[in-house]
Amino acid sequence: MAGQIPQSFIDQLLDTVELTSLIGEDVALKRSGNNYQGKCPFHDDRSPSFSVSPEKQVYHCFGCGASGNALTYAKEKRGLDFIGAVEMLAKRQGVEVPREDVSPAQERAQKARQRLYDVVQAADEYFQWNLRNAANKAGAIDYLKGRGLSGATAKRFGIGLSPVSGQALRQHLTQSGFNDDEMEKAGLLVRKPGRNYDRFRNRVTFPIRDRRGRTVAFTARVLDDSKPKYLNSSESDIFHKGKVLYGLHEAITANRTLERLIVVEGQMDVIALAQFELPCAVATSGTAITADHLEQLCRLVPQVVFCFDGDKAGKKAGWRALENALPMMDGQTEFLFLFLPDGQDPDSLLQAEGTAGYHKQLSQAVALTDFLFDHLCVDLDMQRLDSRARLGGIVAPHLKRMPKGLPKELMLDELARRVGTDKTAIRDLVDHAQPAPIEPAPTPAPEPEPEPPAEPVTNDGYDELMNYAGSDDNEGTDYYADFDPAPMPIGEAPAAPEAKLELPPIGINLPAQAKYLQCLYHLPSLAVEPMSWAHEGAWERAINQVIEAIVDHKIDSTAALMGYFSNTDIGRIFAEFTRRDPLIAQDRLAAQWQDLENHRDRRSAKLERRGIKASGNDDASALARLIAARNAAQTQKKP
Ligand SMILES: [Zn+2]
Repeated sequence: MAGQIPQSFIDQLLDTVELTSLIGEDVALKRSGNNYQGKCPFHDDRSPSFSVSPEKQVYHCFGCGASGNALTYAKEKRGLDFIGAVEMLAKRQGVEVPREDVSPAQERAQKARQRLYDVVQAADEYFQWNLRNAANKAGAIDYLKGRGLSGATAKRFGIGLSPVSGQALRQHLTQSGFNDDEMEKAGLLVRKPGRNYDRFRNRVTFPIRDRRGRTVAFTARVLDDSKPKYLNSSESDIFHKGKVLYGLHEAITANRTLERLIVVEGQMDVIALAQFELPCAVATSGTAITADHLEQLCRLVPQVVFCFDGDKAGKKAGWRALENALPMMDGQTEFLFLFLPDGQDPDSLLQAEGTAGYHKQLSQAVALTDFLFDHLCVDLDMQRLDSRARLGGIVAPHLKRMPKGLPKELMLDELARRVGTDKTAIRDLVDHAQPAPIEPAPTPAPEPEPEPPAEPVTNDGYDELMNYAGSDDNEGTDYYADFDPAPMPIGEAPAAPEAKLELPPIGINLPAQAKYLQCLYHLPSLAVEPMSWAHEGAWERAINQVIEAIVDHKIDSTAALMGYFSNTDIGRIFAEFTRRDPLIAQDRLAAQWQDLENHRDRRSAKLERRGIKASGNDDASALARLIAARNAAQTQKKP
């Protein structure tokens, strides 16, 4: 029997299929903001009510409620079963579907990996929240404004802020259900005997996202005099510097068709270019560009421009990029090299001369061939016969590394012209040459360890933050566009009783009740029977309404649930879930549900310890009594 299709393959498939082009085969799509819109391929649509998000790789119809990803599209539109859909998409991408038996060990490894994504994601949300709310946000916002970044750009790149205290993130993540081990593995925590502390403190944080947009690591810049100036997450199971390109996800989502990608040296350059409406730059994270990086770029665009500083280090980095590019010169991708005037980087150039200045520089980028010959001829006097012969000997080993094809033929022509001989002799020379050895890419140095926070490690910063969150000082909150000061994103923050169903802005953890609803929406089978709540607000009522609908009407799919609640407040929240996180994995939902339930159990246990009998349905009345007691105590305190 054929084994299981590895989840990693399905992930990769969803990663590489361009949903807009898949759906574009059936209906015409037009760009509208970040999304594409068109007439729904699933129902008789008069006005375009169907929208596709290339960023999230999902679609949603506001008319009939159809929604999903490339796989659901293939299933529902093309009438395939799951395996058939995977095979169809794989064929489209020209890849074979691998099969494997998943051992318990592999399954454990997969789960551990997912936990890493989750913990980094939680840290990401927390950092972004801090930039809008933390006590040290003013310095960070001043710094970003000083670099010319708008709030919108900061938001797009998910720029955040780590608190001053060495314990704030750790404490937040602990409360969200992660342990030190997971934080350390994700490169967020420094572990020392007797004292574990946050890796990033008082730094502006830049999430490093993989192609699919999942945050896998951070780069962080100091706001004080600490060393080092820039600090990256250490490498982890989900973050390999030699593979991830900073800005690639943002570039893909900002451009419907990407014609060109610019490889720059610094992450800040990527952001600066995007700020100046050139959202097509990528950078490595503290490592030289690798063959792996280049392969990703070549698959995506017909033109790659390497942009380096004009100094010696820049030239060296350029040469390394050239060495890696040679074996990929198959005529599909053009490589250009741009060396900026001495002392300039893209950021400073843009600040000084704006987009026009940068475009002028771009137009002067040289072809790989020119860079290669210029670099190798630099010490040769081409008027002299022996120098010309030497050139042949020097260049041949490099040409040897090129694949057969037109680019190589043209290079042979060029070398023959420069040496002043015929092509046959040059071809012979190249054929017999040893391929030039390329300097192995230096293994990225381990990230320096940030200095430990001043003794003693306390959670002062955290408390300060908690208090700050409640203060009225909202100065600067308008920096991060269209975000309101938001509640502290603790994993289990109690939801304030609300009159209306309203989700917090993207980036802020959902309150527990919304998470219940989210689980039910994606996985209706979780519904068993209505729940008892200490406090019955809009959310609690909605949860029970949904549970009852699922049970009473035997609803077994998200689409059916969506249909049932269409044009209601709950339906509006469902549409929002689809828009925000439709790819949420089933096992993750089940785990989330379990966490929520465990939390309810723990709460009951806590109540019991306090002498309040709480079990089963008594939970509700016990909680109600506790809350009533607390409220009474608070009322008494007030003058
Ligand atoms: Zn529709």
